Amino acid sequence: MRVLEVSDLVAGYGKVAVINGISFAVDPGQIVGVVGPNGAGKTTLVRAVMGYLRPWRGKVIYLGNDVTHHPAYVRARLGIGYVPERGGVLRSLTVRENIDLAISMSRRGRDRIKEVTKVFRIVEERRDQLARTLSGGEQRMLAIAMALLMADKLIVMDEPSAGLAPIMRRKLVEVVKWISKELGVSLLITEQDPTVVLETADTVHVMEMGTIVKSGRARDIIKPEALREHYLGM
Ligand code: ATP
Repeated sequence: MRVLEVSDLVAGYGKVAVINGISFAVDPGQIVGVVGPNGAGKTTLVRAVMGYLRPWRGKVIYLGNDVTHHPAYVRARLGIGYVPERGGVLRSLTVRENIDLAISMSRRGRDRIKEVTKVFRIVEERRDQLARTLSGGEQRMLAIAMALLMADKLIVMDEPSAGLAPIMRRKLVEVVKWISKELGVSLLITEQDPTVVLETADTVHVMEMGTIVKSGRARDIIKPEALREHYLGM
């Protein structure tokens, strides 16, 4: 059974459609990347998939269940983990309190906490520190650890590498690979910068102005020229 099937999804704000007939699927253990420039509609797509924005048309099917019109909390309860573009942690709580909250909200958390603690060192090393005093990259890692404790078969990450220093970006690549390989959890990752997706994703969709314009294996889709263009504007 497919983990996620999105078909002909249309959504937007006011009268303006921002995503216009998006279709793709995520299979068990697969990492799917959606890359595209600023304003392409990646966050809008993620919000429609997660239930924070009501689709105008189309379907979102998670593990065979039609969740298109289910509110976000139902999708979370069904086991879709979410790492939003910003936030995702409770800043006025300690690291440990954030983690405990994630565990209390899921069926999986208790089974996974040992493995999660091994990979996300801050869970132990910074347990009593307030989340708001962690660096941006550390907060991102805490948000990913929490999503992982709550997720069943899928985690959706919206631009996880945005604002991360190169060393944290390396760590993110390792963590994403580990989640898929060792835990068998699938990932849907949107990114403006294609590097993390290139190093992790099995399948990539390129999004422009609300539609998917190209799809394929990461290596075929993201050419070195595109990376050069991205970094040097050449
Ligand atoms: P980025 O990489 O910059 O985060 P993105 O691909 O995630 O971009 P979206 O954030 O989905 O793009 O935005 C797509 C379009 O929708 C943009 O033109 C944006 O201005 C518009 N938009 C986003 N949020 C809203 C909103 N709440 N109300 C009205 N328009 C919005």
